[in-house]
Amino acid sequence: MLKRVLIANRGEIALRIIRACRELDIETVAVWSAADESALHAQMATRSLCIGPAKAADSYLNQKAILSAALACRCDALHPGYGFLSENPDFAGRCVQAGLKYIGPSGDVIRKLGSKASARALARNAGVPVVPGSDGPVKDVRQARELAEAVGYPVLLKASAGGGGRGMRQADDAQSLERAWQEARAEAVACFGDDELYLEKLVVHPRHIEFQIMADTQGHVVHLGERDCSIQRRRQKLVEESPSKALTPALRAEMGTAAVAAAKAAGYVGAGTVEFVLSPDGQFYFIEMNTRIQVEHPVTELVTGIDLVKEQLRIAAGLPLSFTQEDVQVKGHAIECRINAEDPERDFMPCPGTTTFLHLPGGPGVRVDTALYTGCEVSPYYDSLVAKVLVHAPTRLEAVRRMRRALEELIIEGYPTNAPLAHLIMHDRSFVQGQYDTGYLDQNLDRLLDLVRTCDHLMEGEEKP
Ligand code: ADP
Ligand code: ADP
Ligand code: MG
Repeated sequence: MLKRVLIANRGEIALRIIRACRELDIETVAVWSAADESALHAQMATRSLCIGPAKAADSYLNQKAILSAALACRCDALHPGYGFLSENPDFAGRCVQAGLKYIGPSGDVIRKLGSKASARALARNAGVPVVPGSDGPVKDVRQARELAEAVGYPVLLKASAGGGGRGMRQADDAQSLERAWQEARAEAVACFGDDELYLEKLVVHPRHIEFQIMADTQGHVVHLGERDCSIQRRRQKLVEESPSKALTPALRAEMGTAAVAAAKAAGYVGAGTVEFVLSPDGQFYFIEMNTRIQVEHPVTELVTGIDLVKEQLRIAAGLPLSFTQEDVQVKGHAIECRINAEDPERDFMPCPGTTTFLHLPGGPGVRVDTALYTGCEVSPYYDSLVAKVLVHAPTRLEAVRRMRRALEELIIEGYPTNAPLAHLIMHDRSFVQGQYDTGYLDQNLDRLLDLVRTCDHLMEGEEKP
């Protein structure tokens, strides 16, 4: 097994990795920026080191500083978490060159799948259905126009290097294509430093269905069922659940087989996620593969009982998967709500600040992954995700009721969060019935926010008798 792992990340995911390591008797080395001196990950690791100033470019993205820390502490492996350097093929390669086991697939695999245009080609060659669109990158607006005519509007222009819902623009007709092209390109350059775009037909009213994959170095590839991540705001996930109400057992088996085929074709090793959009007529299409542990991985852990991070560590140590496809049994229903420090009233502007009071939900079937504590600072330098509230229950409706209860127990004071909005989603008819697609939240946001306001007023009234 591994002896000492450097964790090149912060926040809740760094804690998640530390916990898995402790249970396996693996030492951990945390790295922290000047903004994170009193952060929990720096306290909970076996050892911790400062790697630079607050700005991510100078610390959590500072490859040299991170590699030096790993070597100075004589680590034998490095876990990148999600975000930051987790999908950087050069960094994965540098780790291996420095004699570290990289906890994830090889740099070559990350490179192949990291360009979304080339990942499409790979999936298509493996017989996995992809959204109709371009074969690889599109070179100019003229070519985009020809392709759009061929597949039919509306279309999406997407950044090859994209992630987090950025670098994507919709064009409904030939007139709007030019503008969509300019905007997608500008955002691609600003966010990813790469102007390559590709084109896909827009699948209307889709569900976002993704499959969790695990692959070891002996060639075993297994899927752990799906997560439905269709509750999105501007193409970013907010609520995730498993199993999906949209899948029949037959469709689940078919999509799971396709996900495994895509992973096998890529020579995949480690934990990964194959993302699909599912159209209302039951057709599914590959959109991308994420080559890392996902924010929403605990949803799968709750329904399968499998610890995905421990499994990642085992795979990196060269051990075979501890389960087979037949061993994977989905039990009950799990839901996750991502809690962000942001103000829904001000276009979800990130709202960092001091956590003046914190109370976390507990009791049967509740799991909270967070690095918050009373008094801790939420820094403006990093992602605004502050907690993941998860529930597990025998049925979907019981899980919904449990999530309502958990969010009612949750108290975070010091800055606004989206928790009241998540609570209302748990009461909304479409969500409760499981009838929603990726457009649901954007279409219903004004109505839901109005309800949040009404609830706030009622609560204030209650407090002043
Ligand atoms: P997930 O399904 O795991 O949430 P996302 O694509 O939303 O996948 O990204 C996971 C995390 O990584 C989020 O915190 C997001 O803000 C961050 N992230 C995604 N892409 C990038 C990127 N290109 N650069 C920096 N951070 C990113
Ligand atoms: P990212 O790398 O930013 O995660 P994805 O390609 O995974 O980008 O797409 C993000 C979201 O955008 C999806 O979850 C889905 O809601 C929407 N989307 C992407 N491609 C399509 C498509 N061809 N048709 C409809 N919706 C899409
Ligand atoms: Mg995606």
